[in-house]
Amino acid sequence: MISMRRGARRRRRGWRIAATVTAVLLAAAVALTAIAFPSVAATTCPGCYGLERLRPGLYAELGLAPAERRHVAEVVDQANQRVRAFFGGRVSSPDVLVCLSDDCYRRIGGGRERGIAVLNRSVMLSPRGVDPVIASHELTHVELHARLDGADVPQWFDEGLAVLVSDDPRYLAPAGDRCLLDSRRALPATLADWLRTASANPHVYAEAACRVSRWAGRNGGTKALPTLIERLSTGEAVPLALSGPQRPLEAPSSHISRRARSVARTLFSADT
Ligand SMILES: [Zn+2]
Repeated sequence: MISMRRGARRRRRGWRIAATVTAVLLAAAVALTAIAFPSVAATTCPGCYGLERLRPGLYAELGLAPAERRHVAEVVDQANQRVRAFFGGRVSSPDVLVCLSDDCYRRIGGGRERGIAVLNRSVMLSPRGVDPVIASHELTHVELHARLDGADVPQWFDEGLAVLVSDDPRYLAPAGDRCLLDSRRALPATLADWLRTASANPHVYAEAACRVSRWAGRNGGTKALPTLIERLSTGEAVPLALSGPQRPLEAPSSHISRRARSVARTLFSADT
């Protein structure tokens, strides 16, 4: 009888130790994530990083004037509308975190980019990215990945699509054939290669947009793209007619920034 009670006590003590160790490990993992990847932590708990909720899914830095809050909401509304119109609806509804000061953006883990799609689930906009073009670009990354449902596409397709949906005047002609830069080279397929190439030469966005917009032009217009994405989500490869020539990409001469390396490791889509 006594040895049975002792056995039960030992088991209870064992469970308590296991529970304590698990709690300590979890707390350590949360703390490490917050230190190593503040943007992941900030998008998980915007309030912990000094942002306030303007409405469900939209957070901005504390203390903005009413006109600034209205501006932020309008920019995000216009960007959402752009994405919805292009895809004919939405399957994603990411949280959007907006900073109007560099201090705020640094605090939530941002760098020198205008915006980031964090893990393709949430969007952070820097003071230079509070604009319907940048916001819809980042929202497109999230929408595409929600539609792909885990299927992989080359990074240049992801970026070219985002330029097209956001109607980015830096990289697209205003009408007709929207191609500004038709290149004869293979474009970066991985996020790491994309960040390396784009940090050396942002015109690669125009090359990617050229491929995607010309393919859409040959296939009945931009409404062909949501249909293509549906096919890609089943594991089909990007059509050869879209990916274009496959000559090897020249290595960019400029150095890779530490920021680019770190975002590449963590699957962030950071955009200039
Ligand atoms: Zn992008």
